[in-house]
Amino acid sequence: MTFKELGLAETILKAVEAEGYTHPTPIQEQAIPILLKGKDLLGVAQTGTGKTAAFGIPILQLLHTAKHQNQGKSKVRALVVTPTRELALQIGESFTAYGKFTGLKNTVIFGGVKQGKQVNALRNGVDILIATPGRLLDLMDQGFITFRDLEFVVLDEADQMLDMGFIHDIKKIIAKLPPKRQSLFFSATMPKTIVELSRKMLGDFERVTI
Ligand code: AMP
Repeated sequence: MTFKELGLAETILKAVEAEGYTHPTPIQEQAIPILLKGKDLLGVAQTGTGKTAAFGIPILQLLHTAKHQNQGKSKVRALVVTPTRELALQIGESFTAYGKFTGLKNTVIFGGVKQGKQVNALRNGVDILIATPGRLLDLMDQGFITFRDLEFVVLDEADQMLDMGFIHDIKKIIAKLPPKRQSLFFSATMPKTIVELSRKMLGDFERVTI
């Protein structure tokens, strides 16, 4: 299987090639076609499997092909929630790399630093927002982020977020998202609380286990 056979657009293929990827990983092979069809996804997969590209590439492609719908300053159209600053920064770098020919902008927000720069980045407009739960909720509560135009949400490393005590924050965040959206849920393990959360968050979904 090649990336081209997965139905990727030329703008994305060029970027993936530039990263030196020759073939999709198993999770990419399975998840990309499901996501390009517009379906929700439950992915049982660990970091290191190529999971970030498995969700990043189709989100970029779908946002890019529907780009004309979003003229002027970008509103948040895709949200990725992840447990740690390190993961958030890595995901941001991946979106920048895979999306470098799309013109789509991403920004990363996380706690433990002053919020000024993050607020400015949001004011300047962003298509894809990557965030840790606490700071995200904080900036939402202050009115710096609206999700009126949100089309995609990704919960990454859901079991780790649960272990870190973010479950209430996550529930509050999800409650503020528009119901008509494509939802992606990734977790390395599936304890009961995570199964329940995924049921609440996902619509009609397909499951991929790596
Ligand atoms: P992740 O599981 O998303 O953290 O990705 C793990 C590592 O695999 C990252 O360093 C990626 O750059 C790399 N990677 C992702 N997809 C591919 C691919 N198709 N071919 C080669 N490397 C990849």
